[in-house]
Amino acid sequence: MIQDNLNTINHQIAETCLKIDKNPNSIVLVNVSKTKPLSILEEGYKAGMRIFGENKVQELCDKYEQFKKEDIQWHMIGHLQRNKVKYIIDKVDLIHSVDSYRLAETISKEAKKKDIIAHILIQVNVAQEESKYGFESQNVIGMVKSIHRLENLKIEGLMTIAPFVDNPEENRPIFKALYQLSVDIKEQNLDNVSMDVLSMGMTNDFKVAIEEGATMIRIGTALFGDRNY
Ligand SMILES: *Cc1c(COP(=O)(O)O)cnc(C)c1O
Repeated sequence: MIQDNLNTINHQIAETCLKIDKNPNSIVLVNVSKTKPLSILEEGYKAGMRIFGENKVQELCDKYEQFKKEDIQWHMIGHLQRNKVKYIIDKVDLIHSVDSYRLAETISKEAKKKDIIAHILIQVNVAQEESKYGFESQNVIGMVKSIHRLENLKIEGLMTIAPFVDNPEENRPIFKALYQLSVDIKEQNLDNVSMDVLSMGMTNDFKVAIEEGATMIRIGTALFGDRNY
């Protein structure tokens, strides 16, 4: 069942990449396993999944402890409170959701304590939705210029959550805007900033996101089914 879903998604990624002459292997799939029990993640692992995305610190830590595999990566994709950074700093491979300078400072401090480099994405609220976290687009370059000076941090790129829309085409301008922002930041040639990662696109709009330059997509529902909260 999960194997079938994964095959379908991989096929759709390949088809989309073919259309735009891009290597499908350059797209990283984050399997969004939030709210799903460990048995589902284990099934996913057997199907070939290696990157799991979680949005709650407690849940991520529990799954991390119970499902230890050398070759699994955990990604934090949800809003992160500063006082919880210490619990995940040495468990996650990428934090997608850096949405304030103070959060970046805390991540830097905790990474330094553990003598590791924290890999982060800057979350941008491109659509300016009040309900969503993230920097406003016009503030992002300035923020990156401050955050990149913090120790033990590497800014790998940008992330956005596009609105829920009926027609994914409606989100195309949002993905275009995030891509352009990453180009503008790259031109600044800042230390510890790469912009290699553009995390955008979910179950409903990942094809459009890939067409507009996503290098990382975050998919839950299409792989694991609906979530019951
Ligand atoms: C839940 C979640 C997703 C996955 O959404 P689906 O529509 O289920 O694919 C992706 N990104 C973030 C930040 C999420 O919280």
